[in-house]
Formats: sequence, C-alpha cells, structure tokens
Amino acid sequence: MRTIVIMTATPIDLRSDTVTQPTQGMRDAMMAAPLGDDVWGDDPTVNALQDRCAEMFGKEDACFVPTGTMANQAAIKSQTRPGDEIIIHGESHVVRYEAGGAAALSGCSFAIADGARGFITPEDVTNLIKPEDSHFCHTTLLSLENTHNRGGGSVWPLQQLQDVCETARAHGLKTHLDGARIWHAIVASGVDASVWGAPFDTISACFSKGLGCPAGSIVVGDRDVIFRVRRARKLLGGTMRQSGILAGAAMYAIEHHIDRLAEDHANATCLAEGLHNIDGITCQVDETDTNLVFFNIDPSLGEGDAFCRKLAEKGVLSEALDQYRIRFVTHLDVTHEQVKEAIRITQELCEHAPSIS
Ligand SMILES: *Cc1c(COP(=O)(O)O)cnc(C)c1O
Repeated sequence: MRTIVIMTATPIDLRSDTVTQPTQGMRDAMMAAPLGDDVWGDDPTVNALQDRCAEMFGKEDACFVPTGTMANQAAIKSQTRPGDEIIIHGESHVVRYEAGGAAALSGCSFAIADGARGFITPEDVTNLIKPEDSHFCHTTLLSLENTHNRGGGSVWPLQQLQDVCETARAHGLKTHLDGARIWHAIVASGVDASVWGAPFDTISACFSKGLGCPAGSIVVGDRDVIFRVRRARKLLGGTMRQSGILAGAAMYAIEHHIDRLAEDHANATCLAEGLHNIDGITCQVDETDTNLVFFNIDPSLGEGDAFCRKLAEKGVLSEALDQYRIRFVTHLDVTHEQVKEAIRITQELCEHAPSIS
C-alpha cells in the first residue's frame, strides 16, 4: 500500500505527519541538550521531559520510548498477563498496525468493538466483558485511541470517552489511551491534556508525528505502572543511552509545535472542502476534526492505490488505506499554497478519469 516514487521536483508530501523534518530551532535545541545515560536514569533532558509530560497529563511519572508502537506495547505488557483479553475498537492502530504485538509480546487476545469514527459506547464495554467462568479469558484492559486515525483523525466526544472508561473501571479493568495524536485532540477541542488523561491508567503520545520530532514517544501514568513500563521498555530493547538528544527535540516541540497544530487543522479543513467539491470524490468536511483528511473515490476513478500512483506522478504523495479510501495528511512541512495546489492537481486527475487504469 506504500507510495514510493522518485520525484524530480519537490513533491507535496501528504502521506503522513511522520515525514516532517526537524526545524532549525529543533536541531539547535537537540545540539544544546545536556545529556547523561538514561539506562542509569541520569540523562537530565530525558528526566525533564518525563517530568514535564507527567505534569501535563496529571500523572506521577512518565517513560520516554523510541516509538509509539513500543509505547503501546509496553503499556499493554505492564497491565495484562498472558491469556488476558483487551477491549478495543477493531480499526485501532494497536489491532491493525503493530505486527500482532499484543498477542506476540503479551499473550493477549482482543474483544473487538465496532462503531463509527473509532468510537465505542459503555454498552459495548459491558457486552464484551467476559463473565468469571473457567471457559473465558479475563478481560483486564480497555484500550482507546484519540484522535482515532482510521476513524478520520476524529476527536472523541469527551463525555462519551469518560463514560466508556468509567464503565470499564467499574468492572475492574485498567484503561489505556493510544494518544499518538492526542496533541491534535487537545488543540482541536481546547480540552486540557490533564482532562483527556484523567480517565486512563496509561497514556501514550508521539513526538514524531505532528510535533515534528525525528523520533520518540512517551508513556504517562502513575508511579507503579510506569515502573513496570520501564521494565517492559528494557525487555523490548528500547532503553537508550544519551537519548536526551531526542528528548531535547521533544521538549522543543512541546514549547513550539503544539499551538501551531491549529494551522494544520485549518489546512485540513480547506483540503476537505476542496476535495468535497470535486466530482467523483466524497469527503465528509464536518468529520474532518484534525489534520487527517479521508476521502472516497468513485470506483470509476479506479482503485485507491492506482489513484495515489497517478497523484504521485503529478507531485502529490498520499496513501490509500482501503480499496477506494485515501488519506491526505497536513503537517508542519505543508503550506497553505501546497494545499491549494494539491486540490488543483487532484481535480485535474479526476477530470481525466478515463486515463486511470
Ligand atoms: C503512528 C501511530 C502509532 C505508532 O507510532 P510509531 O512511532 O509509528 O510506532 C500508534 N498509534 C497511532 C494511533 C498512530 O497513529
């Protein structure tokens, strides 16, 4: 499904917000970061980042990890035992894009919930919890995603998220939030990180997407669970040494790259409106909450993969996530001018539909 194309001119890269390059300010911050050895726990920049994130999300501690996938897997491993079951939406990153990690690394199965935009309900949770009976798994963890990627970059309605978690907690489940793009939810909703974080035992968040860092994610939670997350990180091979050089980028991003996500959201809305007006494309403008713009192409325009290849030849890089469903992502390295150009190129391609094979 990957679009890999060698371009002569600089393409408009809408494949993902992971493609962002560190800015000069970020590079300077990385070079200036005081370093130690984080295996010994004495890298001052990693420690400062962990303290900062814990405070933002209203928890006691945090653990810096190389990737969002490791953040989720370490959080799962720390809150389950082999044979346990996790309640989760079937379109979640943890289910679809983590190489079967929950099963392979933690011995857990999924109880799959369904629901528009990646959201589930308290009733889903109640229905999926297995009774205490020797035939059944122990249902021990609820895992949600906010913003929800395949749900369209959707921001959970806060009350619904709180209700779902309260139901899970009332049944003794632990709760994890895959907040790879929680920063976008914070900016789009105006709801504080600590409010989004409150219903969860663990929260993971990525610095390497919209925030523009080269690498790095965080798991936030209270002291006991982060103690276990740190152990899982070591087990997974993710404990690094002078990782303050990466934490320095994350500290810089927290200061300078969160508020500006509003620009990416405005660009995404503009993209969605432009796409919506093109014959053969359906795009739900009112469901474009953040920086991910999903749209469907009419089958007469060909399949998504072929459509993306044609777009790439014209200088717009994107990804097909389903047969006829394509994702455009706005980010730090996409200007408003490029957004308008991407709309123009897409429109032109649709007008010449018969040439698509
Ligand atoms: C990208 C992403 C991750 C994983 O992050 P990596 O750093 O690529 O491992 C996890 N969850 C969601 C929702 C994501 O979008």
